[in-house]
Amino acid sequence: MFDERLIGHHALREKLLTRLQAGKLAGSLLFAGLDGIGKRRIALELAQRELCFKRSACGACGGCQAFWTDPLPTELPNLLRIAPEGKAGIIKVGAIRDSDLVEGGVIGWAAMAPPPRCHRWILIEDAHRLHGAAANMLLKTLEEPPPGTHLILITHRPDAMLQTIRSRCERIAFAPLSGAETWAVALAQGWVESDREAWTALSAGSLRYLDRDAFNRACAQVEAWLGLAGGAPFREAAGPLIPDRNADQALSEQLRQPLELLLILLNDVGRLRAGGVPFMGPWGAGLGRLASSSANLKAPQDLVHQALRHLTRNPAPEPVLRAIAMSLR
Ligand SMILES: [Zn+2]
Repeated sequence: MFDERLIGHHALREKLLTRLQAGKLAGSLLFAGLDGIGKRRIALELAQRELCFKRSACGACGGCQAFWTDPLPTELPNLLRIAPEGKAGIIKVGAIRDSDLVEGGVIGWAAMAPPPRCHRWILIEDAHRLHGAAANMLLKTLEEPPPGTHLILITHRPDAMLQTIRSRCERIAFAPLSGAETWAVALAQGWVESDREAWTALSAGSLRYLDRDAFNRACAQVEAWLGLAGGAPFREAAGPLIPDRNADQALSEQLRQPLELLLILLNDVGRLRAGGVPFMGPWGAGLGRLASSSANLKAPQDLVHQALRHLTRNPAPEPVLRAIAMSLR
């Protein structure tokens, strides 16, 4: 019935399947929820079932295997998957209208009718990176997808999407996974019990830190913020917070993670001061020191929110980080 390798979101998956089978699933859908909680995988599962030799998403047959390749498939007989490209990390006109990715782009691909009782699925990942001309070209297809064709826009930042796009899609909200669900996946991927506390605290119901390097980087960023708050000099402590100019990801997107981590830490300090238990338990000692200091939380919180709002317009991350670090003292 459902692919057993996929954990969580059972009620939601049932609902999507029931509506699909009843012919009542909207043509344009917006899958919204935290980064790394399986939105894309569940979108793929809808398409997988149709190519499955048993028509059930068995997970074992050749049809199902085509959906589990690494990297994931870009095009299958019933699936087209597009994602932001390049350092700027945007979805380009060429993929939507021109033949950069497939003949005729997304619009041409969408126009081909599926065989009777079959569907065609178009996944647009990080749909908040769909802007300007590329977004406008898609409006008509989103408004009225051809019969049997479903567009699934996937995003962890629906607020950053154009209203004209959002309003044409039915929103499907994904809740975070439980700690037990995410840890089951981590265990299967080679994580060990001694990592559990820090891994589940940082992951907060998502799978975004399955990659060891990503996890180590996030840990280093938490420690950098706690060090800076404790008075460590910026030059010595801030290294892990500063985006890497040689990385594939845009500087602004790299900066988002340490800023969001700091908000979690500051909320934890507030929680500790109110007598509560911090989410980031493994860093409780550092958080406790900050909670018992006279540090004012509002100034850094305001600066972080401001920085997040202006992320894409700020080409120089270091002064922003420095100002936030100063406000933590
Ligand atoms: Zn199968």
